[in-house]
Amino acid sequence: MKKALVLGVTGQDGSYLAKFLLSKGYEVYGSHRRTSHKLFERLEELDILYKFDLVKLDLMDDISINRAMKKIQPDEVYNLAAQSFVGVSFDQPLLTSNVTGLGALRIFEAVKEYCPDAKVYHASSSEMFGNSDEIKNENSRLFPVSPYGIAKVYAHKTAQYYRDAYNIFISCGILFNHESPLRGLEFVTRKITYNIARIKAGTKKNFALGNIKAKRDWGFAGDYVQAMWLMLQQNRPSDYVIATGESHSVEEFLEDSFNYAGLGDWRKYVETENKFCMRPSDIDNLVGDNSKSKKELGWKHSIKYNELIRMMVDHDCKAFGVN
Ligand code: NAP
Repeated sequence: MKKALVLGVTGQDGSYLAKFLLSKGYEVYGSHRRTSHKLFERLEELDILYKFDLVKLDLMDDISINRAMKKIQPDEVYNLAAQSFVGVSFDQPLLTSNVTGLGALRIFEAVKEYCPDAKVYHASSSEMFGNSDEIKNENSRLFPVSPYGIAKVYAHKTAQYYRDAYNIFISCGILFNHESPLRGLEFVTRKITYNIARIKAGTKKNFALGNIKAKRDWGFAGDYVQAMWLMLQQNRPSDYVIATGESHSVEEFLEDSFNYAGLGDWRKYVETENKFCMRPSDIDNLVGDNSKSKKELGWKHSIKYNELIRMMVDHDCKAFGVN
């Protein structure tokens, strides 16, 4: 039985990935941070909380990372842990650099020292690309426009360096936005579907968003975690763009989700260009070219944009007892 260590198992991707690896027969270990409140709701929702081992680990604490690698001796390590919200990275740039950037270095170094034969998946991000009109592939220029994007570039380059200099198997998934009913409430797609459910339930009248003209390439997280696993089943490590290949604006997402929920014109409920929601810098449009992952991994997404909207709206409405 192969052992997999999922760093950031409490997050959206970590929880879907743990479920997927359990279904493949892996012995799964998942890392979490100590908090004073309940944080296992995603794992409970997927009904896997008691099906694997939890390990306490913080990306800012080398001792906990080193101990985990030494003790578990994983065959596969999935580094999904990060301060992952672009918006927060403008308010907490130092923390974001430390966790999302240096945290990755701490992991690669621990793998090199304690389990050098492990295969490592590292979560890079489309936010590394920044602004340009082209469809992005693995060789596109990296020009990040947020502290989060900058930290991800540092981690991405460090991953490539450890791969080349120390011969560690590290594959980077350059994942474009992927959403699900388990997406954090601060991310724009979930903010929309969650507030739709609240409006329908009568507990909210309206809400505010920032730049609704921004376009993103949105896929389903459940599809994307399969690509992570596929990367580690290859003979050689590499970098792969994971994306659907089409983008939609936040405005379209609003329109389509409000229509699907039967609420009609979203403008009655949503204040846009709210100054508290605007970012100091933003990316206009992100679309990924997934031809390499299709060809080399045999990966393709199964859930399309409209289905994703239906899934998220239905989930949130059900949670509020409305339909
Ligand atoms: P997420 O839901 O925010 O999960 C992040 C995970 O990292 C959580 O388990 C979180 O723990 C953990 N974490 C945060 N700070 C930590 C620290 N100091 N030490 C240890 N763990 C820490 O993010 P996600 O959507 O699953 O994304 C997974 C990875 O893919 C992240 O690296 C993200 O940046 C990257 N990515 C995501 C997307 C996307 O669209 N979802 C796109 C490209 C790349 P808590 O639960 O305790 O906060």
